[in-house]
Amino acid sequence: MIYIPYYNALALPDVSCYFQLDFLNGQSDQPVSAGDKVLFLMLKTEKEEGEIQAEDIFPIAVRGVVESIDNQWALVHTTNRVNLDSIQVTGKSFRLEMRMRPDIDDLDPDEKKERFQKMRAAMLQTFQGSQWMEGTRSQMLRWKNMNEIVTFTSPILRISNEEKYEILKEDSTAKRTELMEKAFYESLELYKVNSEAQSAQQETNEKLYREQAIRRQIDYLQKELDELHPENITEIRKFEQKIREAGMNETARAEAEKVLNRMKQEGQDSHEYGMLYDYLDFVTGLSWKKENAAEIDLDEARQVLDEDHFGLKKTKERIIQQIAVMALNKKQSGSILLFVGAPGTGKTSIGQSIAKALKRKYVRISLGGVRDEAEIRGHRRTYIGAMPGRIMDGIRRSGVSNPVVVLDEVDKLVRDYGGDPSSALLEVLDPEQNSTFTDHYMNVPYDLSDVLFVCTANRSDTIPEPLLNRMEEISFPGYSALEKFQIAKRHLLPKAMEKAGIGETDLAVSDEALKALISNYTMEAGVRGLKNRLDTLCRAAAVKIVRDGHQTVSVEPADLRGFLETAPIRHDHILEVKNPGIVTGLAWTQAGGEILFIETLFTKGEGKMTVTGQLGDVMKESAMIAVSLVKSMFPEQASLFEENDLHIHVPAGAVPKDGPSAGITLTTALASLVTGRAVSPEYAMTGEVSLRGVVMPIGGLPEKLMAAQRAGVTQVFIPEENVDDLADVAEEVREALTIVPVHYVTDVLRQVGILPQN
Ligand code: ADP
Repeated sequence: MIYIPYYNALALPDVSCYFQLDFLNGQSDQPVSAGDKVLFLMLKTEKEEGEIQAEDIFPIAVRGVVESIDNQWALVHTTNRVNLDSIQVTGKSFRLEMRMRPDIDDLDPDEKKERFQKMRAAMLQTFQGSQWMEGTRSQMLRWKNMNEIVTFTSPILRISNEEKYEILKEDSTAKRTELMEKAFYESLELYKVNSEAQSAQQETNEKLYREQAIRRQIDYLQKELDELHPENITEIRKFEQKIREAGMNETARAEAEKVLNRMKQEGQDSHEYGMLYDYLDFVTGLSWKKENAAEIDLDEARQVLDEDHFGLKKTKERIIQQIAVMALNKKQSGSILLFVGAPGTGKTSIGQSIAKALKRKYVRISLGGVRDEAEIRGHRRTYIGAMPGRIMDGIRRSGVSNPVVVLDEVDKLVRDYGGDPSSALLEVLDPEQNSTFTDHYMNVPYDLSDVLFVCTANRSDTIPEPLLNRMEEISFPGYSALEKFQIAKRHLLPKAMEKAGIGETDLAVSDEALKALISNYTMEAGVRGLKNRLDTLCRAAAVKIVRDGHQTVSVEPADLRGFLETAPIRHDHILEVKNPGIVTGLAWTQAGGEILFIETLFTKGEGKMTVTGQLGDVMKESAMIAVSLVKSMFPEQASLFEENDLHIHVPAGAVPKDGPSAGITLTTALASLVTGRAVSPEYAMTGEVSLRGVVMPIGGLPEKLMAAQRAGVTQVFIPEENVDDLADVAEEVREALTIVPVHYVTDVLRQVGILPQN
C-alpha cells in the first residue's frame, strides 16, 4: 500500500490521475509497479512528510490502484472511499484500520452526465486562452465525471480543507454533486472577478505605455517639423529656455509647455501662432520669482517722501507707519491705503514716492471707466484678440513680483453688462485670495500677495461698500494758496524748467508772479492746472531765450498774461455789488471746494416755486425747507410767497449741484429777499438746516474754506459741530478767514444784518 498524503487537495472515487513516478517511489518501500494499491489521505494542516501525526489526518480516505506505468509517469485510478477507524503513525509508516464506505447512488445517471458536461463547459470557457488551459486541455477532454474535475481543480478551489472534507464525507451522490457544484461555481466566479480586475490594471498599464510611445513619436515628429519650419525654431527655443528659467509654479509651467507644444505644430504665418506667441511672451515676461524685501531705514524713507512732496504731513506719517508695520511683520504688503481727494492733490505721485521709499518698482494702473470685469481679470483665450487684464498687465510692466501698484480712480469703476469689475478687484486686493489670483487670459494662478496696492479716488461715496471696507481712507483736501506757492517754487517750476531745457539762471519767476499765477490763473484744489500753466510759461520762456538771446528772462505779475496767452480767471471771485436775495455759499465738488451764489427773486405770480441751475433733489428739498423756515421766522412777510412766484437759481448751470449743505445759504438768501436787506458778498456760509432752524454738520470743510479764501471771502459761517475739522485746515487759510461757528440759522441772520443784533 502506498500512502499518498494530500494537503489542500481532495481525491474522490473513480478518478484517473497521473503521478510522477519519483513521487510515488518516495512514498513506498519498493519501486512502484502496476497493480499496487494506493491510499489517498487527506491532511487537515500542511505538514512536512514524516512529521504527520494521527490527528492531522481526516478519518475518511480514498483507495486506488496503480493502473499503468508509462515512462516517468504512473496512472492511478481511485476506486472507493474508506473509513479510517484507527490511525497509528510511526515515523514514515502508517498503520490503519479501514472499512469500506459505500456511496449511496441516488442521482440519475443522465442527470449526472448532464451536470458534469455543464461543469466542464464552464471550465473550458472560463479558462479559454489561458496558459494553464493550454497545458491541461488534453487531460480535460479525457474527463468522464464531475469527480475528476473537482479532484483535479481541488488545490485551487476557494474553499477550506474542512469544506473539502464535507464533500468527501457525503455519502449521497446527489448531495455530493450539489456540494461540488457549489464549491466549483463559486470559485469560478471569484476567479472571473479577479481576472477582470487584473485585466483592468493591465489596461491602465497599457495606456501608460501607449502614452509614452506617443510622446516619443511626437518628439520625433517635432524634430521633423522643426526641419520643415526652421524659421520657428529660434523662437521656440527662446521660449523653451524662458519657460525653464522663469521660475513658474507647476500649473503655469504645464500650461506654458502645452501652449509651446501647440505653437511648435503651427506654421509661423498662422493666426494661431501669433496668439500662442503672445501668450508665451506674456507669461514668460512676468516675474515668477519671489523677491526679497529691501532693508528699510525709516528716516531715509521719510526723507524720500519729503524730498518729493511738500506738506502732506499727516499722509506721510501714515505712510511711515505702514512701512514700519510691514517691516515688523516681515511682509511686503499691508493694509490697502485709499487716497481720496480732488485731481492734482498728489495722490498718484505720493504713491510713486512710496515705491521709491521702499526701494521697490512702481506701476500705475488706471481703472477709470473700466466697465467690463474682463478688463480687470482678462479675457479668456478663446476670444480673438484676448488680452490679460489690467492688473496682470501692470505686474508684467513692473518686471517684478512685488511692485508698488497704484490703482488710480477706483471710484470710476462702472458696473455694467460686462459683469462687476469691483468684485474682480476685490479678489485682487483680498489677502485671503490674491495669492492665487487667476487672470482668465493666463488661466493659471499668480501670487499677488507681495504686491503693495495703493488706491486713489476723487470721492469715496461711489466706491462699493465691500471694496471700501478693505481700504484705509486718507483724505487729500487740497492745498492752500501758500502751500501751492511752495509746491510751485520748490517742485513744479524747477521740473517745468528742466523739461523745457531751461537752465537755472535763464529764467527768474518772481514770488509775486508765482502768487499771481496761482490766484489769477488757476482755480483748483490741487496743482495740476498750476503745473500746466508753469509748463506753458516755461515753453514760452524757452522761445524767448532762443529767439531773443536773452540772458535771463524774468517774469513779473504783469508779464503773466503775455507768457500764458490767456486772460486771468475771474470765475469764482466774490461779487462786487450786494443785492437782496443773493448770498454766497460754499460747495464741495470733485474738483475740490468752490464758492457758489444763490440767487432768489420774486416775480409777479401766485405762489409757484421755480428752481434752476441743475439742482439735485436734495437741494430742492433744502429750498422747500428754507421757504417754510423763512415764512415762520418772518410771519409778516409770509404772504409774499403767496402773492408772488419764487425763482431760485444757482449759476454755473452746467455743473450739477446737490447735497444738503446749501440749506443755510438758501435760508439766508430768502430771508434777505423778504426783508430787502442785502448780505455782504464777503460773507459765505455752509451748513444743512433743519425745519427748526438748527444748523447741522457738513463734509468737505477744508476744501470749502480754501475755496472761500481763494475767492476773497473774509468771513465764513460753519456749523458748530464741524469745529473739530478745522484742525485739517491749513493755518494760513484759518488766519485769512474769520470763521464763525453757528448753531441756529438766526445766529447767521443776526450777524449778516438781516435780524437785529439782539
Ligand atoms: P492726483 O493723483 O491727486 O490727481 P498727482 O499725483 O498726479 O495728483 O499730482 C499732480 C502733479 O502735482 C504731480 O506732478 C505731482 O508731483 C505734483 N504734486 C502734487 N502734490 C504735490 C506736493 N505736495 N509736492 C510736490 N508736488 C506735488
